[in-house]
Amino acid sequence: MATDAKSLTRDELAAQFQQWGQPTYRVDQVLQWLYERRVTSWDAMTNLPKPLREQLKQAYALNTLQPARKQGSRDTTQKFLWRLVDGSFIESVLIPANPALYGEASDRHTLCVSTQVGCAYGCRFCASGLEGWKRNLGVEEIVDQVLAVERDTSDEVGRAVPSAPQDRLVNNLVIMGMGEPLANYDNLLKALKILNAPWGGGIGARKITISTSGLVPQIRKLADEPLQFRLAISLHGATDEVRQKIMPINRKYPLRDLTAACEYYQEKKGRMITLEYILISSVNDGQDQVAPLATLARRLHAKVNLIPYNKVEGLPWERPPEDVQEQFLAGLEELGITATLRREKGHDIDAACGQLRLRTERELASA
Ligand code: SAH
Ligand code: SF4
Repeated sequence: MATDAKSLTRDELAAQFQQWGQPTYRVDQVLQWLYERRVTSWDAMTNLPKPLREQLKQAYALNTLQPARKQGSRDTTQKFLWRLVDGSFIESVLIPANPALYGEASDRHTLCVSTQVGCAYGCRFCASGLEGWKRNLGVEEIVDQVLAVERDTSDEVGRAVPSAPQDRLVNNLVIMGMGEPLANYDNLLKALKILNAPWGGGIGARKITISTSGLVPQIRKLADEPLQFRLAISLHGATDEVRQKIMPINRKYPLRDLTAACEYYQEKKGRMITLEYILISSVNDGQDQVAPLATLARRLHAKVNLIPYNKVEGLPWERPPEDVQEQFLAGLEELGITATLRREKGHDIDAACGQLRLRTERELASA
């Protein structure tokens, strides 16, 4: 299959154009069509000479994510289900900035993107891993999630696709959709370079958070990369005993190794790490987890994000009652840890990536 144009860096495209004897300004024209105008065909690039368009068409694929299903409304969290060229489904979730929280207009958004079809890590509570791992996403399939959401949303509000980076809809990325991002390391890093580049997505590296279930060697590798991405660790248990009950990866990389890798990241980057902790009733919400969690957070200079569990169809796990959530938070705060608890109602689709796909695939299978 031909390489997709949206998996190329500017340098790679420029090398090709040089080989074809094309002037450099043509490279920038192509990149503008792709990342500012977000067009979906070579023929739409009307300021390119026709023979060049034909040459590009022969040499490169230009695939786009096809909208398959959408949930939510324009002012709240919206979940997009995309169909890929091979018929697989993935999800992206668009979360409006909370004006009360950040004091800015809510036309800036965070997009949660997927990196794999399914997931091989099989965390017991997660919908993404329920049916196993299918494949890695290609660079262009990661990149196009941002472009496709912006395309879709501009159509909806009847607005022209914005061209200047500061006018763009998505200005924050969280790599917390389906899949384990660090298990698709090379494609993820290349996609993030493209989404970060001024000629590409124009999203600042500090506005990009990568979430991992704890792939120790890749965390160290990421620490050695030049770009300053933020790192979030899906902890969900503060002792090996509790963590490995719900996250099989903890047997391969127990907390001691994970903590050491996080310390390395912290030292190399000088950036604060976030520890994500889903509260699951009677599994990891006991006060016995509070002290070890505080110790870990202190050692890593990390803040803790407590997330009440989102129920997944077909799984037995439940969200703890609110008073249990509040007590857990208070316990951490008493120990001097910076922690937040997600309290908003009606945001049940936020962190539950993988569920729309699961439901759609099950419906298709039974149709
Ligand atoms: N594989 C990566 C990134 C994707 S999961 C990782 O595990 O970090 C993104 C986050 O959503 C993780 O913290 C994950 O544990 C959490 N999550 C998964 N299922 C959830 C659910 N049903 N309710 C709340 N959070 C969930
Ligand atoms: Fe995979 Fe992350 Fe879900 Fe675990 S929580 S199964 S690593 S997507």
